[in-house]
Formats: sequence, C-alpha cells, structure tokens
Amino acid sequence: MKKSDVVIIGGSAAGIPAAITCRRHYPDKSVMLIRKEEKVQIPCGIPYIFGTVNSPENNLIPDAAVTGNGIELLVDEVENIDRNEKNVITKNGETVNYDKLILATGSIPLDLPIPGLDKKDVFKVKKDTPYLHSLLEKMEDKKDIVILGGGFIGVEFADECKKNRDANVTIVELLPHCLMLAFEDEFCKEAEEVLKERGINLITGVKLEEVLGDDKVTGVKLSDGRTIKTDLLLVAVGVRPNVEIAEKVGLDTDRGGIIVDSCMRTSDNNIFACGDCTSKKSFFTQKPSNLKLASIASMEARIAGANVFGKRRENQGVVGVFSTMVGTKAFGMAGLSENVAKEHDYETVIGQAESPNRHPGGMPGMAKIKVKLVFNKKSGELIGGQIRGGDSVGELINTISACIQKKMTADDIATFQLGTHPAVTASPIAYQLVNAAEMALTKMKWGVWVENSSYSNR
Ligand SMILES: Cc1cc2nc3c(=O)[nH]c(=O)nc-3n(C[C@H](O)[C@H](O)[C@H](O)COP(=O)(O)OP(=O)(O)OC[C@H]3O[C@@H](n4cnc5c(N)ncnc54)[C@H](O)[C@@H]3O)c2cc1C
Repeated sequence: MKKSDVVIIGGSAAGIPAAITCRRHYPDKSVMLIRKEEKVQIPCGIPYIFGTVNSPENNLIPDAAVTGNGIELLVDEVENIDRNEKNVITKNGETVNYDKLILATGSIPLDLPIPGLDKKDVFKVKKDTPYLHSLLEKMEDKKDIVILGGGFIGVEFADECKKNRDANVTIVELLPHCLMLAFEDEFCKEAEEVLKERGINLITGVKLEEVLGDDKVTGVKLSDGRTIKTDLLLVAVGVRPNVEIAEKVGLDTDRGGIIVDSCMRTSDNNIFACGDCTSKKSFFTQKPSNLKLASIASMEARIAGANVFGKRRENQGVVGVFSTMVGTKAFGMAGLSENVAKEHDYETVIGQAESPNRHPGGMPGMAKIKVKLVFNKKSGELIGGQIRGGDSVGELINTISACIQKKMTADDIATFQLGTHPAVTASPIAYQLVNAAEMALTKMKWGVWVENSSYSNR
C-alpha cells in the first residue's frame, strides 16, 4: 500500500494548483497527484489545436508542473474511496492511504437529447489527447463543418477551424446572438461581425433538432425547417460536473456538483473539492452559479490546498471573469452585465469610454479599447465590466475583476494610481477604465459630493 499525507484526484486546472499550494503551505507533508490520462491538455487551449498550435502535442501541460514541485505523480484512474480507512483504490489495483484528500475530478461534456448524436463524425469537446488527435485527423478532409453552440468555446473553435483549411464553417446557436450568456448585445454583435468577416456562417435563434445521415452525419435539421449539409458536427454546448466518485462514496452533491463550504470542504471533514466538479455560489448574491472556468478552478484549488490542515483561506464566491479572442479582436467580461444586474434588482449606473491602448495612437500595436462599467447606484461600487479591443483586454479585465472583488467605488477607480507608457498602455489622460468611472460619476453622485464636501463648504 502507498501512503501520502495529501492525495489529489485530478491533474488539470484545479488539481495541479491544489497540489502546488499544499506543498507551499505544508512543506513537511507528502503530496501525491493521481490523474487518469497519460498526457494532460491545457483545456482552454483545445480550440487552438485546430488552427494556431496545430496539434494536441503542442497544447500539453508539462508534467514538470507536478514533479518539479516535489509532488508524486501517479497516472491511474481512481475507482473507489474507502472513507473509513482513508484509502483511495485505483483501476490498476493500487491502494493509497491519505490523511487529507482533494477531489478535482472536473467536468464532462453535456449529453443533449437530440436524435442522431451517436452518428459517426459527430464529436464533443473532450479534454482527451487521443480523441482530439482523431478529431483533428477527421477535420482534414471535411468540407462542411457545423458547430453546435455559439458560446465562447464554439466561437473559438469556428474561428480556429477557418484558419488552416478551406471548409464551410457554420455555427448553430439557440439564442439570438453568439456569446450572449456572457456579453451584452452590443459586444455580441461586434463579435458576430468579425466572425462573418472571417467567412463563418452564423445561424442564431434556432434549435438543432436532429442529426441526419445513416451511420455517418450528412446534415442537421433545424427548428425553422432548414436542413444544413455537414460532414462533421462538433457539439460545444457546455459541461456537467464529474461527480461519479463523490456520489458513489456518499458525499453531498447538487446539480452544480460536489457541495463544499467556503473553505472548500465537502460533507466529509477529511475530503476537500475544487474546480469544475464543485457546486458554486455567486460573489454578488451567494445564490448558485453555473459558471465553470479554469480561473475559478485554480482559485478554488488555492483555497482548498491551503486549508487542508487548518482554515487559512475562504472562498467569497464566483465573480466570473474571462476573455476571448475573435479574429484579432479580444472581448472580456467580469462580474454582472447590465441586464443580469437588473435581474438581480440592482439599480445601475453605466460609464463608458473608448480610446487607443497606446499613446500617441499611431504607435505600433494600437487597438481601440472600449470599456463599459456597471456600478451599483446605491453604494457606488463596481459590479461588472465588459471590454472590447486588442490583446491588452485580457489583463485589463483582470484589473476590473480586482476592483469588483475589492468593492471599489467609481471614485476609487477614478483616482487610483496607474502606470502608463506610450508603447504599452493608453495615455493617463485617456485611460479607459478611469474615464469610464468618471463618466459614471457624472450620472451618479457628483452633485451630491460637491454639496456635502468640505471643499464646497469652505
Ligand atoms: C475547449 C475549452 C476551452 C476553455 N477555455 C477556457 C478559457 O479560455 N478560460 C477559462 O477560464 N476556462 C476555460 N475553459 C474551462 C476550463 O477548461 C475548465 O473550467 C477547467 O478545465 C476546469 O478544471 P478542472 O481541473 O476542475 O477539471 P478538468 O479540466 O475537467 O480536469 C479534471 C481532471 O480530473 C481527472 N480525473 C477525473 N476523474 C478521475 C478519476 N476517477 N481518476 C483519476 N483522475 C480523474 C481528469 O483526468 C482530469 O485530469 C475551457 C474549457 C474547454 C473545454
């Protein structure tokens, strides 16, 4: 029998940072990570296998991330957990005794009740290297590719599929716009324009009702009566938590996954869980959140890993931050959109600003960045942000997320100390984040502030 003070099941965006955090917080404890796959894909990089990086082999998380941090790696599938004896039992017959266990078993693609999804050349978005090799191979001679789902994964796949091959690529999306679960209409429409310019066909506001063909897919039937010819269908419609083991051993779960407390502890005091396999709460409402993101998984992992031998960190709930790239335009969102904020009964104030991300605007690499901020009118605090622009969007949206988490007000943001440089940022005069906060202030409380301030009373 093997033994490790901490055992982690799962080797991806949650499992690896959970293991590394354990090592950092408890250097005298032994840590073992068990994962079932020989090679681990960078999950967020999967769409880029079909264009930019061109092979699953170019999208791997190196094992050095585990072994280089003093973590023992066991490649095997966990089949059972004996909670009384604190043992993990694997498919290859290993028994590993633990003091603390962290489940990071992730998620698997959703199964939709659409007739014909079992036909040949219908693929799902699986984080599985051999499967992705076969999808890439199949794609080579295909002329008509349909992608079901216009969320960020479907959109990224479509964009990448168009890069290295001369195929008709069509997205079929149920909602009126692509990316609509994350972005407000104005940003969705901009992204759709880019997709169309790239030659991608968009069919929105319709349901895919049936997959046609004998044994192989030859087309799809839509709810508006149309039939679209296709020789490859990729289903990119979301995931469900992988709670198979957790349920088998009687841990509490709900629709969102394994139930954990704010320390990431499950209903068993010696078992923690993090990542896509766990149920989540919103940072804003503390109500259930459906978001499953790598950034959330690794944040939860850093909490779980730090807490295994005593409470050191707490999860405040999911803000929801992410960015995506469509053509050469990047889009980012954090927190609540204007519409979702209203659904949660917030009275909102909006501030917007657009300017180049270099100064002067003629500097190389310039892209115009548009920032839209959503403030809670009552408290003045930032509760959401959406951005469109060049690749600096990725870091700017993370700054916005920090402002949300620290409950910064429009005043705080308008006066926060930022660094600028002509070659890498917007000018200090035209800094979009600050100016969007200033624009919101003009609608919010400027008059009140002047009236009540010591300055106006002097
Ligand atoms: C195509 C795609 C693009 C994405 N892009 C982004 C993005 O840009 N940004 C973002 O934030 N998120 C993105 N996501 C979401 C992100 O990938 C997930 O949130 C993230 O992978 C969750 O990490 P995880 O470790 O919880 O789960 P997973 O990545 O699902 O990993 C689970 C791990 O557990 C292992 N495992 C499961 N059961 C067992 C068992 N019984 N025994 C041993 N091992 C087991 C698996 O083998 C795997 O190693 C994307 C997802 C996909 C599919």
